[in-house]
Amino acid sequence: MNLIDKLSKIFGAFPGVGPRQAKRFVYFLLSDKRGVTAGLREALALVEKKISRCKFCGRYFNGETKTDICAVCSDKSRDHSILMVVAKDFDFEAIEKSGAYNGFYFVLGGTIPILSDKPEERVRSKELSQEIKRRVPEGLKEIILALNANPEGENTTLYIEKLLTPFKSKDLKITVLGRGLSTGTELEYADPLTIKEALSGRKPER
Ligand SMILES: [Zn+2]
Repeated sequence: MNLIDKLSKIFGAFPGVGPRQAKRFVYFLLSDKRGVTAGLREALALVEKKISRCKFCGRYFNGETKTDICAVCSDKSRDHSILMVVAKDFDFEAIEKSGAYNGFYFVLGGTIPILSDKPEERVRSKELSQEIKRRVPEGLKEIILALNANPEGENTTLYIEKLLTPFKSKDLKITVLGRGLSTGTELEYADPLTIKEALSGRKPER
């Protein structure tokens, strides 16, 4: 494979990028007069050096030095009694920005499409169980499942509910976001007010 095709293939693997667009990216870089290529090279090298994935919540974060626990998970002032399960880093960002939540997070790293034959490979289910086991002695009382109000999000909620059944007790409840989030809403695009309403309207899972 020639180098142009090889690079196109890499860009083509990005979400939402088709083969034509991928090739456009390649030619853009080749004819680059604004220093994008150099900037990209530098940024990629820094990403490798400075971005880590948190050992506890699983989100990507940027630190001056590489550590394995993010600022949120190391913040002792946060509410140890709640853990919010979200699908992606984007969702974490939207909820943090809303300022409506002060507990901890867990990022699943994806969602489970309906009829998926290997749901356990779509989300970080083993890590979630481990994180809950670790947090129970630290005072965990509630797990909020904060997934998108669309079929894939609901399917994921059902799967996680089942996964978490062994942890349910009178001291540990599982809740889902309230209907402040209308059907089809993606958390990532929800405004802070909607997130606040969805959080205050949360209810026990069925
Ligand atoms: Zn973390």
